[in-house]
Amino acid sequence: MLTLNQTHNPNSKSWLASANQANSDFPIQNLPFSVFRRKNSHELFRAGVAIGDQIIDLKQLGQTTLLSKDITDILATCSGESLNTFMSMGQPSWSALRLALFNALKEGAAEESDMRDCLVAQKDAEHKVAANIGDYTDFYTSIHHATNIGRLFRPENPLLPNYQWIPIAYHGRSSSIVISGENFRRPHGQIKHPDKEHPTIEPSKRIDYELEVGIFIGKGNALGDAIPLDSAEEHIFGLCLLNDWSARDIQAWEYQPLGPFLSKNFASVISPWIVTLEALVPYRTEWSRSSEDPQPIPYLESPLNREQGSIDMQLEVLIETDLHRQSELSPERLCASNFNHAYWTMSQMVTHHTVNGCNLRSGDFLGSGTMSGDTAGSEGALIETTQGGKKPIQLTTGEQRTFLEDGDKIIMRGRCEKEGYPTIGFGELSSTLLPAK
Ligand code: MN
Repeated sequence: MLTLNQTHNPNSKSWLASANQANSDFPIQNLPFSVFRRKNSHELFRAGVAIGDQIIDLKQLGQTTLLSKDITDILATCSGESLNTFMSMGQPSWSALRLALFNALKEGAAEESDMRDCLVAQKDAEHKVAANIGDYTDFYTSIHHATNIGRLFRPENPLLPNYQWIPIAYHGRSSSIVISGENFRRPHGQIKHPDKEHPTIEPSKRIDYELEVGIFIGKGNALGDAIPLDSAEEHIFGLCLLNDWSARDIQAWEYQPLGPFLSKNFASVISPWIVTLEALVPYRTEWSRSSEDPQPIPYLESPLNREQGSIDMQLEVLIETDLHRQSELSPERLCASNFNHAYWTMSQMVTHHTVNGCNLRSGDFLGSGTMSGDTAGSEGALIETTQGGKKPIQLTTGEQRTFLEDGDKIIMRGRCEKEGYPTIGFGELSSTLLPAK
């Protein structure tokens, strides 16, 4: 189990001034991972860690003799184009590297001038998805989202009976998971209009975002071996932001009886930085289940999961339309929510996923499901905010939206704040809807 240690010390500062600014997502206590190269270059992608407005190039650092032999051996797994090998090494290696970087980046560290040679400015970098994602499973862990969506389809019986017993999920597609900044065309699909006898093939008119937290699996499990609840987090490398783009009109026609398919797999966008579970230790909170609801059955229940199963991670969605850009207006907020609205914890997702012996592999990816709260303004998708397209939202540009228009850019952000600790951020995720081909 991860606990507070010196890398969470709120008084520690870096020799890099930008890391110490109050509004930085990446103070020395965060140290998230990504895969990057210089923009518009033919360099090979390699792993990096964010600090302030810079990236430490882990490949270059690994070629120096700056850090100990043990750490240099770990860094050797960070020089390729994906983090899968590093992710497979497990918590002791992840923690050892975090501590070594923390010490070398600290104010007064003897390594400062050599470390400075390994920095690349974030504004000069481009990223790719940090792991070869073998499998992608999307959960459905906000009961508020499940109820709001269910109400649109079944007003008298919004929540299906299995919801409170099983962390519900479907298997998504990994090939279309792309990195923030990648835009995509409005997809075509088969749509059945209520007033027409037959379905037609046409561009979707109901493109929606889904505000989700993404979870990267670190160490996998052997086929046949279930992961017990209290060791589930040993298998989680870290978290990022996920926009699970959805075509609601395609979804409504195709989803029964086997669940979403082409309405979901045309693009899912993730943020470049993966914040490790160790960085998130100060922001863990208790997880509870209302006494009026069914309590988890034994394989999904433990005191540890109750004591610190949740994460206080603030989430927000913003929109920037063509008109915002033309009028030089800032993007405006559509939603503010929190990962602690999850009805099931990350451990419960991992344990349930493997209870039948299903094997997770390093680099596999889980989505939390749309993370809606229970108050107005916390809906993580337009289908909820607009009640299925019936109640348009008004933007400051004078425009209205039910679903998204061509040119709309959706931005997502995540932050963890706690009194007495520095605020850490997840960076930004953005992606723009382009006209259909
Ligand atoms: Mn989703």
